Amino acid sequence: MRILQVASEITPIAKVGGLGDVLMGLSHELSWKGHETLALIPFYGLIDTEQLIPEGRVDWFDTEFDKVKQRACVTYYHTHNNISIGLLDTASGYFRNRQTIYGDGDGIASFLFFCRAVANWLLTTQRQIEILHVHDWPTALLPSIYQILSRGKAPFKSVLTIHNFEYQGRCDWSDIRRAGIDPLDFSDPSILNDPIHSCANLVKAGLLSADVVTTVSPTYAREMVTPEEGQGLHTILAGLGKKFVGILNGIDYAFWNPEIDTYLSKRYSGSQEMEAVRAAKLQNKARLFFQIDVPLLPDVPLIASITRLVKQKGIYLIRDLFAQAEELNVQCLVLGSVPEPDAKQAFAELDRDLRRKGRGAVFLMSDEAFAHRVYAASDIFVVPSLFEPCGLTQLIALKYGSIPVVRKTGGLADTIVDVEESRPTSNGFVFQSAQSTSFTTAVTRSVDLFKNKVAWDALMLRAMRQDFSWNIPGNQYVSLYQSVL
Ligand code: ADP
Repeated sequence: MRILQVASEITPIAKVGGLGDVLMGLSHELSWKGHETLALIPFYGLIDTEQLIPEGRVDWFDTEFDKVKQRACVTYYHTHNNISIGLLDTASGYFRNRQTIYGDGDGIASFLFFCRAVANWLLTTQRQIEILHVHDWPTALLPSIYQILSRGKAPFKSVLTIHNFEYQGRCDWSDIRRAGIDPLDFSDPSILNDPIHSCANLVKAGLLSADVVTTVSPTYAREMVTPEEGQGLHTILAGLGKKFVGILNGIDYAFWNPEIDTYLSKRYSGSQEMEAVRAAKLQNKARLFFQIDVPLLPDVPLIASITRLVKQKGIYLIRDLFAQAEELNVQCLVLGSVPEPDAKQAFAELDRDLRRKGRGAVFLMSDEAFAHRVYAASDIFVVPSLFEPCGLTQLIALKYGSIPVVRKTGGLADTIVDVEESRPTSNGFVFQSAQSTSFTTAVTRSVDLFKNKVAWDALMLRAMRQDFSWNIPGNQYVSLYQSVL
């Protein structure tokens, strides 16, 4: 099959969160399974092309933005894992001049322009694809824009995946016109209308125009059709019937694997003896603590959180828990990106508190290498999200032998089974209510079990050996693509 993935992120060259990992992992799996796959993203200024291998091929084409004709191109690269990547920009460097992926205040207009340009590229190059797979609001309108420019003659089927329903791409009609598309050109312009506000909604139009819609876990798919989690679009989603499915994300073990992870001081794997795993994790922890200048308490569990610091992630539950580090006798680390202003202040205070007590630290930044080292060094990994479409961090943590404590919601409910259920798949600690007391109780259970070396070793080993690779989800996507062709 010939598949084009179009998105705003791909790990490791342009990543904010899980979307980037999914683009990398799914593209990798599809090409490994023999499908011709290209991942296409804007050529942002932050992309370090040193990480890529150029293919020496460029497609030039004409497009339009702000009523001005633009010369644009797609430059072809591949990664060391053989993922084919196309980077799109204008001759004048519209995207190269942007230093952030979503920022600069004109994110929506720039992604609408990106979609417009991708449609022009497809039309000009007559690139033969069978599946156009778009992701979240930045590319949700691409199938419709292509239909308009090709006068309804799309030679492919389209798939839209929702990675987070909270972000819907609400925008002004004028943003759409800037990309040279008149809302009246839609066969049914009302599909653009936001159901609540007086504005356009890119995700809503995407839901109603894609041939099939997916989200990133079965439980989140069920939650999205409820008024509580449906973000105003639950009835539209429910109306899609069998055209809407939940497929659990996978993890790319070529990137997230302590056995081959070059960021780590000491590599290890679930196929080793537990003594060796413990020794390697301790060595990684010691190195990390030396780097961050926090005294290491070797017999005390390290609890970690690696997250975007937004409310969705239950960040105030994390703050309240980590404020009790001494009482719980634990050490704590937070690696938090893109903090909202209140969160920035709260976590800066937490950092001072933890450092003063010698109990840990907070890092307000996004750092891939540091993230890998924290997964490897930590013993317990907390994900108390208020809602969570899939969640990748708990799956990465499992592979690195860090035991997740999660709230029972969305993909967290699909992947983490409480130890008290004593099932062969039990791999962590689960709590229900989004209250500090419930969270603290679950973490206390994990800290208590940590003291039982035999039980903890067995749990760690089980966690590290579980398979959350892209193999099964990759097959599910292939079946889905085949079902619409
Ligand atoms: P989301 O996509 O909602 O942010 P996911 O759990 O799906 O959450 O994916 C998060 C991804 O982003 C993981 O790869 C995680 O390691 C990474 N990540 C989150 N915060 C940071 C950070 N501060 N620095 C580096 N990587 C981060």
